[in-house]
This record gives sequence, structure tokens and C-alpha cells, in this order.
Amino acid sequence: MKTFAAALLCLAAPAIAQTAEPRTFSPEAFKSHVAFLADDLLQGRQPGEPGHQIAMRYVVSQFMAAGLTPAGDNGSWYQKVPLREARLVKGSSFVTIGGSPRRANGDGFFTAPSMVEMSQNRSADVVFAGHCLYEPSLRIDDFKGLDVKGKFVACLLGFPKGLPSETAAFLTDQRARFVVQRGGIGIIALWDAAQEKRVPFARVAATIDNPRMKRLNPDGSVYQFAPGLLANGVLAGPAIDELFAGAPRHFADVANQGASKSVKGFALKQRVTFQREATWKTIESANVVGMVKGIDAAVNQQYVVLGAHLDHIGVGTPVNGDAIYNGALDNGAGSATLIEVAKATAAHPPRRSVLFISATAEEKGLLGAEYFAGNPTVPAANLVSMIDLDMPIITYNFTDVVAYGAEHSSLATFVSAAATDMGLKLSPDPIPEETLFVRSDHYAFVQKGVPAILLATGYGGEGAAAWGKFMSTNYHQPSDDMNLPIHWDQGARFAELNWRIMERIANAADVPRWYQGDFFGDRFAPEAPKVARK
Ligand SMILES: [Zn+2]
Repeated sequence: MKTFAAALLCLAAPAIAQTAEPRTFSPEAFKSHVAFLADDLLQGRQPGEPGHQIAMRYVVSQFMAAGLTPAGDNGSWYQKVPLREARLVKGSSFVTIGGSPRRANGDGFFTAPSMVEMSQNRSADVVFAGHCLYEPSLRIDDFKGLDVKGKFVACLLGFPKGLPSETAAFLTDQRARFVVQRGGIGIIALWDAAQEKRVPFARVAATIDNPRMKRLNPDGSVYQFAPGLLANGVLAGPAIDELFAGAPRHFADVANQGASKSVKGFALKQRVTFQREATWKTIESANVVGMVKGIDAAVNQQYVVLGAHLDHIGVGTPVNGDAIYNGALDNGAGSATLIEVAKATAAHPPRRSVLFISATAEEKGLLGAEYFAGNPTVPAANLVSMIDLDMPIITYNFTDVVAYGAEHSSLATFVSAAATDMGLKLSPDPIPEETLFVRSDHYAFVQKGVPAILLATGYGGEGAAAWGKFMSTNYHQPSDDMNLPIHWDQGARFAELNWRIMERIANAADVPRWYQGDFFGDRFAPEAPKVARK
């Protein structure tokens, strides 16, 4: 991280020659898309629901007007994405810890509906395994000496200090796999003081009635990230103390240590039982996919991808009398960026082709983007890079940007050149504890070996305050709506920056490559040609 920041922060001050004439991006056009997509009529754009269908038609209509070509299934604008929706049967979910009275969902305990057992009643012994991480190259093995076979594994959710931010994000995302690879059958996430500070447990518990979704395999079965993981739940406060009754160490003590370094695990004394009932429904959602064909026949079989998820989290628990989670910034603003960049690109097509993906079910776990990355509508080998537009915070005048993932590939060069053109600084990840690198659609492409970034507005100037306010007050709340003090001119600026990055990649002599020796490039694209890190 340090080398990256140092390299990128010493940018030359005067703007260098631009590769194309600047386009004009209109604040009013940007606003018009967000105003439509965040309207109460669209009911928070839940995949499978009419509000999301209307939003998809809107994006198609905009793509059509801009002159894009359909690039979904069989020449259509849509790529179908089959999903399973699961909901908890009200009053059906409980946890029992040792001899303590059974706890209902929401009472220091939280679980989501199961995707693998419609009616569940699972008991097992529990092993505490620190942060439940494993990476031999970093000498991390939280499972060392522990027998978790057939057991639930209790995990701290953070990571030891000093790990590179995106490596930490990757490892925490793999936790479920580490557990099942060792024979564990469930995960108990421990919501300690550090997590409570990030997001209050009450806010997690408030999502109890929200549907959960997973994508379906072609044979109709549910895609499982960690097959064999049968049960999971979150414990907080006194429920954790019940779990740690009789344990060799107090929980407060291990949590305290875990805030900065690895913690050696141990078997717990209390047996745990999870009970829950779910209803399942198959729903068909879709990604909207449009294309601007490149003008250079030598390279127009290569595709630069811009993506923005269109879905949000629908109608849920009312807050101050408002039950509609409009998602104006998350991700009406990213969708507006996508549409405006599509218009600018179609007006002056670059050498390479550009795909514009308005993805479904990102909020349910990057499902639409994973579906596209795994089943692309163009040859997979021809995807040269991906730029993800998710939740640009534009409630202030941004002076810097953060490109999550840029330091892994020569995408960094393109991003820094485009930022320099606009007098913007590129900054390192200001909030590594949020592990944003694995929390949006670009990560689905990274896992398929495609260099990808998530571009975000930065913490410079009023940025830190604006981000802090949004994350603590409006993120995934009904108040992420048109009442936010959105600076529409900053939306237009954000669109221009993304257009400049895309345009540079699409016209460059060579495409972005993973850096030699990079953690992600070596893992996900071992065969791809690499370039030396700059
Ligand atoms: Zn979101």
C-alpha cells in the first residue's frame, strides 16, 4: 500500500496532454437518472420485484437512445440471472447456547434464512478459531492445532493489523471456505466492540425480514460458495458471554488482542443449537447489457467493461415512518454515471469495444456480476478490464479519489493519468476495516482474472466528514434518498473521470496487465502475461 500511495501521490501538477477532446457532462442529466431511479414508485429496486423491472426498462431505454447495441442473451438487452429467494418464517429462528434459555432471532443473536436446509435444527460443539484466517505466505494459520471437524467455528470478524488492506479483504471473504475445508459445518460470527463501532448490531438485526438471494446453477441447484457450510449466525453482547462460559479465556480479553494481532484458538465448552425455517422461491432477474462497438477492427474484439449495480434493498423495516430504501447514491448515482458514460462513449466510440453492464442483485452478494463474469455474453478471454461504479458519495466537492484494486495491475497507470487530467489526487484506501475491495461487483471480475477497480470519491477536503456521515446515517437506510444534499455537478465530474479512464484503456496501445508477483494476479490469472510493477 505504501509504495502504491507514494508512487501515485507525486503526480505532476500541470495537466498533461489529453488523448481525446473533453466531453461535457451535465449535472442536470445526471440528476434526472437518480431522480427517476430513487423515486418511491420503484420501491427500492428489489430484484424480482416490479420496481427493479421498471428500473431495468429505464436503463434499456437510455441505452437505446444513446445508440448502444444490445449485448445480453441472444441479441437482447437482458442477460437472465436465475435466483433463489429465501425468507425466514416469522418467529421460527432461535439459538440455544449450552444450558442458557433459548434466544430468539434479534436478541443478541442474528441469522438469515438457510439456502440449504429449508427446515433446520442443527446442534454441534464449538471451537473458537481467532479470526478464522489462513494464508501460509503470510504465516497466518488460525486453525493450527484445532479440530473443527463436524463442529461450529466461532470467529472474530476483523483481521490482524498490518495486513495489506486488499489481501485482508480477500482473506476475510474466504473465511467460510477455510472453515469447510477443515470439516467445520457452521460459522458463529462474534460481534465484538470493534464491529459494534463499525455497525451497531441492532442495525444488523433490523434486516431480519429482508429476503436473501443466491444464484442458481444451470441445473437449478443453488450455487454454494462454501459447500458443506450448513449453519451460521451472529452473536453479540451477553450471548457471546454465554458461549464463552467455562472457556480458558474471557471473550473481552481475546477480542482486545484480536483488534491488533492473531489470537490462538481453543475449544469452547458450550454446545450450540440453531433452529430456523425458511420459504424458498425461484425468481428470474436480469443484467442489462449494452455495447459500443470499437472502431479499430484490429482490437474491437476486446472489451472494456463498465458496470454499476441497479438493484437496492427494497422495502423494509420503517425508519422514521419511511419503509422505502430508495438507494439514491447506492446505486442510483453509479447507474447515472454508467448511463452518462455510455452516452459519451457512443457519441465518439474508441478503438476497443466497451460493454456497459447494469447488474442485478449486487446487494445480495454480487450475484448478477458473478453470473456475468462466469457466463459472459462475449468470449471471457476478451474481457480486458472492468471499472465498477458503486455508491459514489457526492454530497461534497471531492478533491481526491480512491481506486480500490488499482495497485495490482497497470490499471493504476490509466487511473492516475485520468485523475491528473482533472487535477485530482489518487489516495490509498482510507477505510481498510470496511474491506470495500471484496464488497462490490468488480471483485467478481477479479476472481475471474480480469484486472478491475472500484472507483470511489476520496477523504480529502470535506470527504472524510461526508463519508463518515453517509456510512453512519444513510448507508442502507431509507434516508439514502433524494433528500440527501447531493452535489449534482460532482456527479457529472465523477462521470467525466470514469469516462476518461475508460477512454484511455479503450484507446491504449496495450491493455491493462496484472503486475508480476501480485497476490491477486498470481492467484486468479496465473497464465496471463504480467508486467513489472511501476
Ligand atoms: Zn449497497
